[in-house]
Amino acid sequence: MVSELGDQLAELTSRLVQINSVNPPGDVTGVVEFIRNWLSERGFSSSIYEYVKGKPNLIARVGKGKPIIILNGHTDVVPPGDPDKWTHPPFSGRVIEGRVYGRGSTDMKGGVAVIMMVFAKLGPLIEKEGAGSLVFSATADEEVGGHAGVEALVKDNLLVGDAAIVAEPTGFDKYCIAEKGLSQVKLITRGRPAHGSLPLLGDNAIMKLFKAIDKAQGIINEVNRDIKLPQDLIEAVNNSAKVYLEGALRSGLRLSEDDFKRVIGSVSFNPGVIKGGSKVNMVPDYAELELDMRVPPGVSPSAVIDRLRNGLSELAEVEVLDTSEPNYTPSNERIIQLIREGISRQGAEAKPIIMTGATDGRYLRLRGIPTVIYGPGELTLAHTYDEYVTIKDLVNTHNTIKYTVEKYLSLKQ
Ligand SMILES: [Zn+2]
Repeated sequence: MVSELGDQLAELTSRLVQINSVNPPGDVTGVVEFIRNWLSERGFSSSIYEYVKGKPNLIARVGKGKPIIILNGHTDVVPPGDPDKWTHPPFSGRVIEGRVYGRGSTDMKGGVAVIMMVFAKLGPLIEKEGAGSLVFSATADEEVGGHAGVEALVKDNLLVGDAAIVAEPTGFDKYCIAEKGLSQVKLITRGRPAHGSLPLLGDNAIMKLFKAIDKAQGIINEVNRDIKLPQDLIEAVNNSAKVYLEGALRSGLRLSEDDFKRVIGSVSFNPGVIKGGSKVNMVPDYAELELDMRVPPGVSPSAVIDRLRNGLSELAEVEVLDTSEPNYTPSNERIIQLIREGISRQGAEAKPIIMTGATDGRYLRLRGIPTVIYGPGELTLAHTYDEYVTIKDLVNTHNTIKYTVEKYLSLKQ
């Protein structure tokens, strides 16, 4: 779709992509300065909150009182990797054949451009009608956990509202209602050292660790047999399975939709790091494994860890590395309904999805704010070479979000 709006969104996305904000180190000063000036040229003031030097967060508000709807996007991007693997240089923001290319085009400078545009367009009307508030927030640090960004802002009551849209890439016809949580643990086994030529005199910690891993997987399989997801999450799991499968098929993996449904809708199991032993001719007395498990809504990350601890008590110690709660916004929330309507009235079937990783949306949800993840781009293009966003997606998601805000704040259209 070639349109004036399309050109504006492509141009804005391209300019944001050209400002390097790779995380680490996560310095987003340049992007925030650009956004601040852009808003100011259109008559909007904004506030800056900088918890960590070089990682400023920007918040702009229009309107008065409740209801408050938040638009959010992060300004940092992941590193580009090997620049030679890009067809167009990663920070070129090259606009060609209906696409904007570059690091962050999909994740998520395209999304930031879209919500900037919606804010600038509706701002004057919201100021005039005074039927609630719209908050625009461009936040730092998402790619390394959002601690100096949304997490801190929510904790300090600087970013709170009645509903939120986080414009991470879902693509125009999909919207994300849920994210899996996290249980990361270390399994530690201990033994008795001995000379490697007489292993029977020792107690081998590595062999114990193998048994513990095997047993841990059995315990997680048991946990997974008992999981019952609510109906709207089952639909989301099925849709996400299709999305992830497409990406997998493109990379030549022979997997099925059922494979993905199984892993998305249950606790995943990934031994990520293993260490142990000190010398080939010694019986090792110590070994450890770092294990990453992603937990669907309805399952408690700490309950999963307790099950492991009880089941492995004879073999291994279980140490917690990190946990975060899974989270989800039910389909009957108004913000979800409006996003669905916004998609449908542009002629597409609106599909809920669930993400296997975490976004800043979790901080808003855990604060009790109904939150939908919805924005331009393709989930499977995030963090890849030749990342791009289509202008059509920029325009269509812009229209959906604009419609949602207009309805949510009962603006005359
Ligand atoms: Zn992102």
